[in-house]
Amino acid sequence: MTASKKPWSARTLAAQAMGATDPLTRAVVPPIHVATTYIRDEDNGYSSGFVYGRPDNATTREAENVLAMLEGGSQALLFGSGMAAATAVFQALGPGDHIVAPTVMYWALRHWLASEARRWGLQVDFVDTTDLDALRAAVTPGRTRLIWIETPSNPLWTITDIAAAAEIAHAAGARLAVDSTTASPYHTRPLALGADIVMHAATKILNGHSDVVAGALVTKAEDDFWARIAAIRRGQGGILGPFEAYLLTRGMRTFHLRAAAQSASAARLAEKLAAHPAVSKVLYPGLPDHPGHAVAAQQMENGFGYMLSIRLAAGEAAAIATAARVELWKRATSLGGVESLIEHRASIEGAGSPCPPDLLRLSVGIEDPQDLYDDLATALDRATGRS
Ligand SMILES: *Cc1c(COP(=O)(O)O)cnc(C)c1O
Repeated sequence: MTASKKPWSARTLAAQAMGATDPLTRAVVPPIHVATTYIRDEDNGYSSGFVYGRPDNATTREAENVLAMLEGGSQALLFGSGMAAATAVFQALGPGDHIVAPTVMYWALRHWLASEARRWGLQVDFVDTTDLDALRAAVTPGRTRLIWIETPSNPLWTITDIAAAAEIAHAAGARLAVDSTTASPYHTRPLALGADIVMHAATKILNGHSDVVAGALVTKAEDDFWARIAAIRRGQGGILGPFEAYLLTRGMRTFHLRAAAQSASAARLAEKLAAHPAVSKVLYPGLPDHPGHAVAAQQMENGFGYMLSIRLAAGEAAAIATAARVELWKRATSLGGVESLIEHRASIEGAGSPCPPDLLRLSVGIEDPQDLYDDLATALDRATGRS
């Protein structure tokens, strides 16, 4: 690429997985590197840079390069799951360090912070991070080391102002990490807004086909904290395996097409469902009546994502009955795949969850949005005695 030429767009680079090919055969798709060990040079060195399969893998690195590019970060690390990636960030802190985390967030991580993190000597406070005054008040300079946010957040899709949260963190000498799984780099690039680390459950829309469990961290700076995270992955053996990494790279080649289709369908469904008589509320940051809409409009681009929730006027039993009556939507947990999923979220989150019992979480896939609406509307009508 010559200096005068404008850089290729993220969509272009992702489609070609950063241009990686196989130098041996000139294949357009690089091979999957499965070796666990590498031959030493005669002078006892490792000139390829690869020594053993736990610290590093070339196929995994290819996926990491795509992800670092998508987020505009300096480096990415892939882990065996989103939870493994997220917990590596907290484990890189030390005993006595204070963390501020949101009240509305991915349930399993909230549970880990409330139980396991405390056993590591970490002090965790949960606050409503959409309320910047509350966030500011929860931070103590010199004691708080990390603010963790998730936006839009599971399963209410509340919006936290990333730039403002970064300012609050940095003023206190803390870092800001963002779980950007549901926004995805199609809609939001937290590092450009001031965040220090971005986390993804790559299990979700980045891979997009519901056939890989994977997690990722992307950093703005390769500083001491990042070196600790890398040491934790190396030491604890958390690296993503080459087969999964290959599938993830394949998924990311079509990421922009899927994300565009899924968010357009989600926006259309949100509008149509808001007019359905059985639905008391649609939770979607793209709707003007959503409390986070103004901030979302500022920090998200290309729309508002593929996730929404609906609340049913007739309550919990009607919500469960609706999920039981859909034929096209798949009744399952998780999100971000090409197939649309519906879930009665309170059933999985259990006691202490901020999720209302009348809520159904919808992950919108790439099917015809009219089919998706018709199937759900029919289920709503049947479950609430309208037909
Ligand atoms: C799924 C998910 C996670 C956890 O990822 P796993 O790959 O299931 O461990 C974390 N955060 C969010 C927002 C998620 O949706």
